[in-house]
Amino acid sequence: MADRLLDFLLVERQDPKKLAPNERIIHFNEIYSQFKEDSSKEQSHRCLDCGNPYCEWKCPVHNYIPNWLKLVQQGKIIEAAELCHQTNSLPEICGRICPQDRLCEGACTINDDFGAVTIGSIEKYIVDTAFAMGWTPDLSNVVKTNFRVAIVGAGPAGLACADVLSRNGVEAVVFDRYDDIGGLMLYGIPNFKLDKQVLATRKQIFEKQGITFQCNTTIGKDISFAQILKDFDAVFIGTGAYQPITGNITGLDSANVVLALPFLTASTKKIQKKTLTKLEKEVLTTSINERVVVLGGGDTAMDCVRTAIRLKAKTVTCVYRRDEKNMPGSAREVANAKEEGIKIIYNSQPTAIISNERSEVKQVTVAETTLQQSIGLNSRAEYIVNHEKLSSIPASKVLIAFGYKPEPHPWFEEMGIAFDKNTHKVLTKNKLPYQTSNQKIFSGGDMVRGADLVVTAVYDGREAAHSIVKYLHAQ
Ligand code: SF4
Repeated sequence: MADRLLDFLLVERQDPKKLAPNERIIHFNEIYSQFKEDSSKEQSHRCLDCGNPYCEWKCPVHNYIPNWLKLVQQGKIIEAAELCHQTNSLPEICGRICPQDRLCEGACTINDDFGAVTIGSIEKYIVDTAFAMGWTPDLSNVVKTNFRVAIVGAGPAGLACADVLSRNGVEAVVFDRYDDIGGLMLYGIPNFKLDKQVLATRKQIFEKQGITFQCNTTIGKDISFAQILKDFDAVFIGTGAYQPITGNITGLDSANVVLALPFLTASTKKIQKKTLTKLEKEVLTTSINERVVVLGGGDTAMDCVRTAIRLKAKTVTCVYRRDEKNMPGSAREVANAKEEGIKIIYNSQPTAIISNERSEVKQVTVAETTLQQSIGLNSRAEYIVNHEKLSSIPASKVLIAFGYKPEPHPWFEEMGIAFDKNTHKVLTKNKLPYQTSNQKIFSGGDMVRGADLVVTAVYDGREAAHSIVKYLHAQ
């Protein structure tokens, strides 16, 4: 193996094949193909085995990346899949949707001069291949307990929590208001980034592990939280961040101003041939031949622009208040959006949505911004808005994609769950990590940290499960 340590000098970084823009915008299928055995080995060999794996540190779940790359080189896919699952409950999903350029691959030692090892695509390859080989997690060493834990929310935090609990012999029952598992990943992340069959396969694996799912169940409506608290030994809440941030813009009440999530949800439901509400149908039919303007510059904004182009919008423009370097999302997704014909207007702060007398959107007014220096190593640059430098962008539909924050549930107060009154984040400053002010209730993911990545929610869910296990055994 030693003679191959310099492979990165000889072998270029290769991503799996990607569909050409004109081929991919006519459907919602995933745009990347899968590595084959030989290409995955070849790309894995590019790992320098640098001895100081910054990739592992930068990966929010601290995956054992160089170790599973070595197993891929040796063709040991099942062992690699087992190792992936020691740190990550949804590796095939993170391999698809993590912003690797900001995380593991951005920290790869050879990134700057030679191009990072294609870590995300190899992670996806390992797990997809293991599933195709019939692999399921080896739980033969698990010692069953009599503990039962309820998990509210089947998003990444809840699923990761259930995974770790089941691996510790604890019965996990997951409740969710949607008709299937995934939370935001189910309808909020478009199929061209995450095919929903991936979620269906993961659900089967979790069910084989003994995790139970109760979908179509809204806590506080179909069953009270007090009842759940009585029936189970502990509860984890991971219901995400769904309250939209709309910004300080006039004209938000005009017809054809739509929030990002209802738009993405309607589109994904339609592809999945699910029943759409009247409003969801309207959101989609009015997209055809329209001039769509998306406000925001993160991954959700990129999901919106790329969905709008697939819904045959006439033009799609994204307006972002900083420059490209300061965009919060994945550089890969921005590049994909641009390839698909999306125009991005940088350094522009939307100030007003202008409508005609029938309340139909006509244009968006934006003010030019000037960037200041960034205030910290990982922070984005501050900016000032020049209100005298205004311009207009023609629009017939505006999508608001400024982000989301957590929404406190009405039963929080009664259940003694403290949260920050401004940010709405649940406070978890009790004795154990992720334990709320009610010691029987734990929380994590977007609910606690605010809107963030799937992979950070996975980390929280897993860590919270370890706290729950400690709590249960101490009772
Ligand atoms: Fe990279 Fe995300 Fe996988 Fe970590 S989980 S190795 S950050 S793709």
